[in-house]
Amino acid sequence: MPTPGLDGYVEPWRKPEHDDLAELARTFFTKEVLPHAERLEQQGHPDREHYRRAGELGLLGLSIPEEYGGGGGDFTHEATLLHEQTLAGEGSLGIAVHSGIVTGYLNDYGSDEQKRRWLPGLVSGELIGAIGMTEPDGGSDVQSIRTRAIRDGDDYVVTGSKTFITNGILADLLVLAVKTDTSARAHGISLLVCELTGDPAGFRRGRKIEKIGLHANDTAELFFDDFRVPVANLLGTEGSGFIQMMQQLPQERLVIGVGAVAAMQRAVELATAYAKERTAFGKPLIGHQNTRMVLAEVATRTRVSRAFLDDCIQRHTRGELDVATAAMAKLYLTEGQCEVVDRCLQIFGGYGYTTEYPIAKMYADARVQKIYGGTNEIMKELISRVL
Ligand SMILES: Cc1cc2nc3c(=O)[nH]c(=O)nc-3n(C[C@H](O)[C@H](O)[C@H](O)COP(=O)(O)OP(=O)(O)OC[C@H]3O[C@@H](n4cnc5c(N)ncnc54)[C@H](O)[C@@H]3O)c2cc1C
Repeated sequence: MPTPGLDGYVEPWRKPEHDDLAELARTFFTKEVLPHAERLEQQGHPDREHYRRAGELGLLGLSIPEEYGGGGGDFTHEATLLHEQTLAGEGSLGIAVHSGIVTGYLNDYGSDEQKRRWLPGLVSGELIGAIGMTEPDGGSDVQSIRTRAIRDGDDYVVTGSKTFITNGILADLLVLAVKTDTSARAHGISLLVCELTGDPAGFRRGRKIEKIGLHANDTAELFFDDFRVPVANLLGTEGSGFIQMMQQLPQERLVIGVGAVAAMQRAVELATAYAKERTAFGKPLIGHQNTRMVLAEVATRTRVSRAFLDDCIQRHTRGELDVATAAMAKLYLTEGQCEVVDRCLQIFGGYGYTTEYPIAKMYADARVQKIYGGTNEIMKELISRVL
């Protein structure tokens, strides 16, 4: 069923294959993962088995070339999958990071040998991927990271810590931002691929961080104390890490935008349905002018957001999504998500504040969208640089 206000809208990039993918993804999330939602929230992280099953169904690494086991598609396929995940209300699997971010780093900067070593495992779901940039002392100022990697023979010896790492409890493979030259800022940063299966010597996972939302998705602190990473695990060349991150962050921000629009669509759908069935003062809520006005406004905001998102998706698949436009997408779409979800929650009255109703979870889950992937204040900085 189309979202109210989006009837007849078809993403300009959509082909029949996206419909098939969407249906497969919807069935997987609703029939195989959502029945476990309560348990997953209590355990505070997703099931490994669900990653493996997603891999078995061909849902991981959709944009990775087939020679490395991937789907051979592009970002439109990743966007379709992530849209369906949010629309279904599934929030345990960190696919946005695993497939939307980590595989991109490996595919774009890994050598053929590195890709053959790691991509098939990520695509099958045997390996779970994470990315570690943020440190306890600060996330926005990436150039000031302190985790250092000192060369010792054929290894780097890594010391430092990262925090707020999505998939951190389960991750087997971590793309880690380190300083290989501590005297430099941006040019001292390199990316190392850390193999974490079995918690090797010198590596420790900290506590699972308790959050106000996204309870079924794991976020953790990671500690490195003379942790050895083979030099062969360097992505690209020493000192190119900052540029690599700047090149990948537009996709990360678009991934966040995809989730934002899907959440808006879901909120509008839920609120419209509720406004039709709930009565007050002898008529359905939608019979009251204010409810209709609110729904008209959020439906309009959602439709405009959808069109802007699709423009960005098309630019990205053509390789033309610039830093400022991606920042605009992240800023506008996540602000929109928080506003739309909040206004839709209001239509539910007291029930909107109870966790029995999905809109309440959506409210708590939405807030972080304005923070991670670079805060919205940093997005404004990036946009202002091109003005
Ligand atoms: C649930 C969750 C998942 C996350 N997942 C990951 C992950 O997988 N990997 C990862 O590396 N990180 C991850 N993060 C971290 C996230 O990217 C950072 O929290 C974010 O970049 C902000 O960094 P900070 O928390 O250190 O805030 P700070 O950098 O300390 O910023 C604090 C405040 O100051 C503002 N501020 C900072 N600098 C400026 C400036 N120049 N101008 C104006 N205002 C400024 C910020 O906008 C913010 O409002 C995650 C965070 C959360 C909460």
